[in-house]
Amino acid sequence: MTVLTTPSPEISEQVSQFLRQPHQLLVGGQWVDAASGKQFEVKDPASGETLTNVAEGDALDINAAVSAARHAFDEGPWPRMTSSERGKLIWKLADLLEAHLDEFAEIESLDNGKPRAVAAVADVPLAVDLFRYMAGWATKVEGSTIPISVPYMPDVEFHSYTLREPVGVVGQIIPWNFPLLMAAWKLGPALATGCTLILKAAEETPLSALRLGQLIQEAGFPPGVVNIITGFGETAGAALAAHPDVDKVAFTGSTEVGKLIVKAAGETNLKRITLELGGKSPNVILPDADLETAIPGAASAIFFNHGQCCCAGSRLFVHQSQFDQVVEGIASAASRIKVGPGMNPETEMGPMVSQIQQDRVCGYLESGLADGAKAVVGGSRLGDAGYFVEPTVLVDTRPDMSVMREEIFGPVVAAVPYDNLDKLVDAANDSVYGLAAAVWTRDVSQAHRLARKLRAGSVWVNCYNVFDAALPFGGYKQSGWGREMGREAIELYTETKAVTVRL
Ligand code: ADP
Repeated sequence: MTVLTTPSPEISEQVSQFLRQPHQLLVGGQWVDAASGKQFEVKDPASGETLTNVAEGDALDINAAVSAARHAFDEGPWPRMTSSERGKLIWKLADLLEAHLDEFAEIESLDNGKPRAVAAVADVPLAVDLFRYMAGWATKVEGSTIPISVPYMPDVEFHSYTLREPVGVVGQIIPWNFPLLMAAWKLGPALATGCTLILKAAEETPLSALRLGQLIQEAGFPPGVVNIITGFGETAGAALAAHPDVDKVAFTGSTEVGKLIVKAAGETNLKRITLELGGKSPNVILPDADLETAIPGAASAIFFNHGQCCCAGSRLFVHQSQFDQVVEGIASAASRIKVGPGMNPETEMGPMVSQIQQDRVCGYLESGLADGAKAVVGGSRLGDAGYFVEPTVLVDTRPDMSVMREEIFGPVVAAVPYDNLDKLVDAANDSVYGLAAAVWTRDVSQAHRLARKLRAGSVWVNCYNVFDAALPFGGYKQSGWGREMGREAIELYTETKAVTVRL
């Protein structure tokens, strides 16, 4: 395999201009430098070269952002706005984002490494859609009236009802794999329910959040409702998780950091927490599946976004009668993938997001191969510049190997044969994670039966990576707490208040 060498188009004038601007923090409606004055470099993962510098926010900046968010929640115009006005602002943000679709796709491609064409059909439109879906929710957050019968007050009449109120000031910490979309998943429900927030972008990919901050100001959100901090996890992220005046932290990232967030909340103010964490998702091909769809489907399940998806189909279970055929099909699909810079229109798979991530993925490959696994295709890093890794299909794994147990977060699938359906369910569920799973079959009953048995927050049948703003997404087991998107996200950004009136 080689990295595409055909030249990529120049960066557009619009994006060049954005890259040349100073990149500050959005606090209380103002763009400001980090209190420390520090900045850090943002790299192009396709070349390893510096794209620009951004402000390095830390605990002091988090303190300022939390104060601004608290003020906006308690006293600013935000709490006095009607839910309809809030909904209109969110819708306006969606319109602005849509109007800048190409620009965001380009920023996302440069910063994260993903193909620009993919960002233009997936990341940006999904973010637009999410904001529109959540704009609709703003006017639909309702409580209920509840008949009560208090046994020790039999002669008294009551009127009881619930109010759903915004949870308050929310800290939102997001990862680098879908920078804009993860920001949208977080901002949408917080804004729809009337919360104020501090968004901490991932240090690897801060740019689309900063550009989104400009659109948030253009849309007319009151100052302090959305605050955006760029900075590192151990400093800015940890300060947000531990802040005593933050009412909730919503985090997406590794299970390891998720546990640190829980600890920080436990040691401070027991803030509400939602977590969307790692995965090691089983993808099951049953013997009656249509292999013409299942093989490319299984390849896309692992190779989409270079395997940098928490729900990537990284453990592929295939009946032993079809194992060789399926492995050959996926290996052949992998070897045809055009790997190159995200900005190159021919590119189908870009680089890993960072040197650290490239080393992490390659470390797993080395350990798997040393443990006796075999790479049918791929198996190592690729190219001299940038952070590329070969799309890889592993066989001859054992359930105890780290490549079978741990989240690799790269383009690496382990294919495993099975012969017995009961044992297959046990093997598929044999993971500390439970984010997603998939089944490929023509047997409708079998599909529903397996969907019930698989311990995962999303189960796809004859498809993979299907996302919609209306569908809840999140994990069982150590894949997280709570759900993103859909009605469930709205509920997790509200507190329920029970009001009882003696008549
Ligand atoms: P990865 O290892 O794939 O980069 P992380 O879970 O480390 O994933 O990062 C996801 C997000 O969590 C990023 O925004 C990062 O800055 C943040 N983060 C990392 N460490 C901490 C921490 N100790 N406390 C809070 N946030 C953190």
